Amino acid sequence: MALALAAVLPVAGCGKEGSPPVKGPAPGTLPVYRVDTAFSLPQSPTWARAHRRGHLVVGAKEDQPYLGEKDPATGTYSGFDIEIARMTAASLGFDPAGISFRTIASANRETALQNGQIDYYVGTYTINDNRKKLVGFAGPYYIAGQSLLVRTDEDDIHGPQDLDGRKVCSAAGSTPYQRMEKEYPKAVLVSYDTYSICVDNLLTYQVDAVTTDDTILMGYAAKVPDLLKLAGKPFSKEPYGIGVPRSDNALRFALDDAIEAHERDGDWKKAYDATLGLSGVPAPRPPAVDRYPAG
Ligand code: GLU
Repeated sequence: MALALAAVLPVAGCGKEGSPPVKGPAPGTLPVYRVDTAFSLPQSPTWARAHRRGHLVVGAKEDQPYLGEKDPATGTYSGFDIEIARMTAASLGFDPAGISFRTIASANRETALQNGQIDYYVGTYTINDNRKKLVGFAGPYYIAGQSLLVRTDEDDIHGPQDLDGRKVCSAAGSTPYQRMEKEYPKAVLVSYDTYSICVDNLLTYQVDAVTTDDTILMGYAAKVPDLLKLAGKPFSKEPYGIGVPRSDNALRFALDDAIEAHERDGDWKKAYDATLGLSGVPAPRPPAVDRYPAG
């Protein structure tokens, strides 16, 4: 995307009236999170290590508009997932401004959590039973659905059933990739590490569609609405969780508490409105947290 979208962005970016800012949320619209300085969780090895280090290391995405986006000029991350990371960090006693974000691609999340590269992960990470064998999940904090992104000049794709013999791009290791492979074997599946590379390929006619969560695709479409559109309706449920090391149930439950607290105090909605809400969908009611038992 750095290349192709950069080429088209000046058009979208220099201000159709009411168009979202290209470089992240408008100043002053984000919540300010109160750091719970009395918080302590010595029974969590991850928390204890971060506490000794003095800051959290959080895995995220850097190329997903309104969700997890890194400003190449400043290195600053912004978006709804980033706000979820920041609000939960404050509840765990860490200064959100001190979080060190690491970009981790979809296929590498489990390994990053397993070998301690990151303390937790917030980046459009679908909770499912397969992944629960490898990592733990706090949440869900949002529910997305798999969808399709096509060029505005495409009239023949209205859902996954129209993809037979067409080239479809998704990220390696993602649930949308796995669903296409299993349920729509006649589509010609192409994969890259990131969705932004898929979008580049779509804009340059190398593929016919990009498939992943509607949240992610709406962000790309909102940046170049003259060139890209969503096709059809979402065809899966993708509950987003915060990924944690599998055995660290103390951290997982503390993050569940933090998510619930910020849903109650209005931070969740304020953060949504200032980020993901900019791609056009009003804030839904947040889903109930699923505090599944340790084991
Ligand atoms: N939510 C899906 C997943 O976790 C797709 C988005 C992503 O790859 O991060 O696989």
